[in-house]
Amino acid sequence: MATILVTGGAGYIGSHTVIELANAGYDPVIFDNFCNSKPAVLARINKICGKNIPFVCGDIRSREQLEQAFNNYKIDGVINFAGLKAVGESVKKPLEYYDNNVNGARVLLDVMKEHKCYNFIFSSSATVYGEPDSVPLTEESPVKRANCPYGQTKVDIEYMCQELQKAVPEFSMVLLRYFNPVGAHKSGLIGEDPRGIPNNLMPYLTQVAVGRLPYLNIFGNDYPTPDGTCVRDYIHVVDLAKGHVAALNHCLNMPGTHIYNLGTGVGYSVLDMVKAFSKAIGRELPYRFAPRRAGDVVQCYSDATKAKKELGWSATLSLDDMTADSYNWQKNNPNGYED
Ligand code: NAD
Ligand code: UDP
Repeated sequence: MATILVTGGAGYIGSHTVIELANAGYDPVIFDNFCNSKPAVLARINKICGKNIPFVCGDIRSREQLEQAFNNYKIDGVINFAGLKAVGESVKKPLEYYDNNVNGARVLLDVMKEHKCYNFIFSSSATVYGEPDSVPLTEESPVKRANCPYGQTKVDIEYMCQELQKAVPEFSMVLLRYFNPVGAHKSGLIGEDPRGIPNNLMPYLTQVAVGRLPYLNIFGNDYPTPDGTCVRDYIHVVDLAKGHVAALNHCLNMPGTHIYNLGTGVGYSVLDMVKAFSKAIGRELPYRFAPRRAGDVVQCYSDATKAKKELGWSATLSLDDMTADSYNWQKNNPNGYED
């Protein structure tokens, strides 16, 4: 089976995807510089897979370090998870975000081209749709200028991939637009381990649940939604990981640009999430209403039919699975990965 270089493979989504790739018979090679992950994840991945997954320590901005991976393994394709992803930080450090994400993807694609490796899957995001004109979002919904540097790096990399595909038509470029990944592997061995106070809803909920934080601040309860709180399409990270396997199965060696939403097609409000999480932990999770967060879109959920029709993939895990598995991970690892 094909050998797949998984850049950013030590991170939250990457680690889950490495496991699903191995389960499906692919040979993943992890490439990461641990700027937002910890080496401890590697042993956990190996434990779940029941074998050693090769690892190369490197930065996607370094040609030399990428060459090391390409020279040591016969790489058939690359899934690029390596990127910085904190919206607020990107506003403060735009150059770091453009350098790491856009320049990193540029160097990676250039090295791929040189090695005649033409299968690329990119971690894009529903953020490329900006504030939607209407929901659900299809792949045809307009891509908009983002309201933060993080989001704009996703828009820019999508364009870079499309332009390169036109110039080098052998490329199979797969742009996967994730909605809101949550949950963790059933084993409780791997999960999301943000640095500092979490920006995202689910890790914040899990940290309140284990007593690391006192209560959730719900950002805004006066939005034009059924309960006044914002609506998102939360997707279990294992379903998302399997979406990458389905994309590989379908798009490997299929030249062109292939764009897919990876979501469930169902929107839940922040209050829905608090209710579901309270059910998972068997008690009321404390929360307070707080002012709106700058830049939040009101509603964002996918039309997931294209991936179902073309890739034969759809999300199967429920909201109860998402909350139970997120909590299981945090309960077993109250302080995340500890080296
Ligand atoms: P993560 O931070 O857990 O994983 C990213 C990994 O990439 C980390 O292990 C980090 O050390 C590594 N990395 C970053 N820059 C690197 C570089 N220059 N060279 C080598 N390694 C590098 O994040 P995640 O949640 O797993 O997200 C993975 C990708 O998916 C990111 O590109 C992110 O923007 C995208 N995405 C995430 C979400 C989400 O909500 N988690 C939503 C949409 C898109
Ligand atoms: N949210 C919240 N409190 C938090 C974190 C998030 O109320 O501490 C809300 C946020 O305003 C948004 C939803 O939860 O409406 C999802 O936020 P997240 O940052 O997880 O995802 P994104 O907004 O990037 O889709």
